[in-house]
Amino acid sequence: MRLIDKKQGRFILICDICGEEAPEKFYDFHDAVDYKKQKENGWKSQKIKGVWCDICPECQEGGENETRGKSKN
Ligand SMILES: [Zn+2]
Repeated sequence: MRLIDKKQGRFILICDICGEEAPEKFYDFHDAVDYKKQKENGWKSQKIKGVWCDICPECQEGGENETRGKSKN
């Protein structure tokens, strides 16, 4: 999971494919994990090339295998 600790010590859940941020911010790491686990939020953890990635609802809908071309590395 990639979580960013911004100025005010908050965690932000970020999609590993498109870089989209979850609409909610969290004060606690575990709150972010809980958010991701809740089905209604639409986020999902998926293994890509042996690495666990967080995937936002949009990337899941947009065709699983074509979304990777966006990576800038
Ligand atoms: Zn995404």
